[in-house]
Amino acid sequence: MDAKQLSNISVIAISILAAFLVALWIGIVFWVLRDIRSRSRDPFVVILAGLVALVLPIFGVVIYRILRPTQTIEEKYLSALEEETLIQEIERRPKCPGCGREVQADWILCPACHTKIMKKCVKCGNVLELPWMLCPYCGSPQQKTSPSDTIR
Ligand SMILES: [Zn+2]
Ligand SMILES: [Zn+2]
Repeated sequence: MDAKQLSNISVIAISILAAFLVALWIGIVFWVLRDIRSRSRDPFVVILAGLVALVLPIFGVVIYRILRPTQTIEEKYLSALEEETLIQEIERRPKCPGCGREVQADWILCPACHTKIMKKCVKCGNVLELPWMLCPYCGSPQQKTSPSDTIR
């Protein structure tokens, strides 16, 4: 192997490496553009992220990963939805008519002020609302009860 052959091989090796790096660079630019579009709808932010990846080949992506918004738009939407559900759940929780304390839907008495909240079916034992005259579970007739009635 003479010097000419050696230099030929190194030229080929360098070309392959260069081609690989360029492909990687282009791939990174496209990845950054796709990634930022899932995180921001602001066209200025998208262009800026694309420029960082374009101007600083390969290292730009490191900077981008540090600076990018941590949540994608979808993640933001999901966490907002979760929060909404949580708030609704808190609001939907029944309150004691006597003291306003939060109570469970299947409690028949308020543990704080002993007000009657619900009643139990005389036959099947399911929890019923106080004004109900009929058990929706087993159909047996019930006595109308008011919260001030004594506990039986
Ligand atoms: Zn109460
Ligand atoms: Zn019943």
